[in-house]
Amino acid sequence: MSLLFYSVIAVIFAFTNQAQEASRIHRDAIVVDGHNDLLMSVMDGENIERRRDTGHSDLVRLREGGVDVQVFSIWVPPAVKHARGYTGYADEEIDSLDTIISRNRYRVEKVTNIVELRECLKQGKLACLYGLEGGHPIGKRLENLYHFFKRGVRYIGLTWNNSTSWATSARDEAAGKKGGLTPFGRKIVHAMDSLGILIDISHLGPTAVRDVLAETRNPVIASHSSCDYLAHHYRNLTDDQLRAIAGNGGVVMINFYPRFIDSSVTKTEMRKLKRYAGEWKTIAKKYANNPDRLVKERKKFLATRYPQVHATLRRVVDHIDHVVLVAGIDHVGIGSDFDGISVAPLGLEDVTHLPELTAELLRRGYSETNIKKILGGNFIRVFSRVCVN
Ligand SMILES: [Zn+2]
Repeated sequence: MSLLFYSVIAVIFAFTNQAQEASRIHRDAIVVDGHNDLLMSVMDGENIERRRDTGHSDLVRLREGGVDVQVFSIWVPPAVKHARGYTGYADEEIDSLDTIISRNRYRVEKVTNIVELRECLKQGKLACLYGLEGGHPIGKRLENLYHFFKRGVRYIGLTWNNSTSWATSARDEAAGKKGGLTPFGRKIVHAMDSLGILIDISHLGPTAVRDVLAETRNPVIASHSSCDYLAHHYRNLTDDQLRAIAGNGGVVMINFYPRFIDSSVTKTEMRKLKRYAGEWKTIAKKYANNPDRLVKERKKFLATRYPQVHATLRRVVDHIDHVVLVAGIDHVGIGSDFDGISVAPLGLEDVTHLPELTAELLRRGYSETNIKKILGGNFIRVFSRVCVN
């Protein structure tokens, strides 16, 4: 037997060992995903209780991916037509998730504080948290904030891409809108602090982020944001912001959206958009009066026309590395944005691939303790500090 033979066997053994170690760590860890848009599919009438052959997740695949805590995003399309406006639509989304949970109590549970969360995990169920993406359902009435607290909402992203009347979004600030938080916006921040609702700064413009950090007493989260240093985009966080969030004790949960993690994807997408410009124009014209449908058609268009435009799992982990480098190991987490993004990275095609992210962290030399912080420990630290009731 040659030395080469023994070397090959040793490499295979080490590789298998590492893979087993990664899946053990993933199983043992509390895996938290800070942002999932499955409720959009629910509002379209899809059944997420069964395994779907579309999208990135459902109740079955979340378990297969080893997710222990999932924050479900309650997002209201900007052009929503509902008898009670944004508030009514958000209520409907909450109703839908409440109903799904009540039908599946043997495997999922709604949790609103750290005690409930720990109890739920002890029972081996998926802990479901409710997060409002965009403060529009609050409107200008503080009573709506109390209403959504009572309904179980435990984080609120103050804006989506569109600003509220009291906080400016990243997209609007990038387009030149001045703002930050108005006096009412500050009031909302104080009330969220008192109630114990996490402030989510994803989607906020830099001035608004600065104002929030100056105003809040609590650590904040960025539920689904990546690093501007690695992929320049108004939705991503600059190194200064990463440091400021670390100073506040908060956590930045990395978004998987290819455009947010790899700038070359945007360039390729733009090139291809040009090639298919005619087809896209026809679709855009057809649904010009129906913005909600247009968003969906654009997603479908991008998914079918550009399936080959992907970033990779390794690129996602580059963003985790970057936050660790700039802000420290205690300030990073995962906020996939699954089922809200049109394309997922190669290697992270859906939520069942999450254990591969753990394997990549292990390959890069992270210790078990630090991997567990990234996978969910950091979020749990912030959650247990803010959401005690
Ligand atoms: Zn979002």
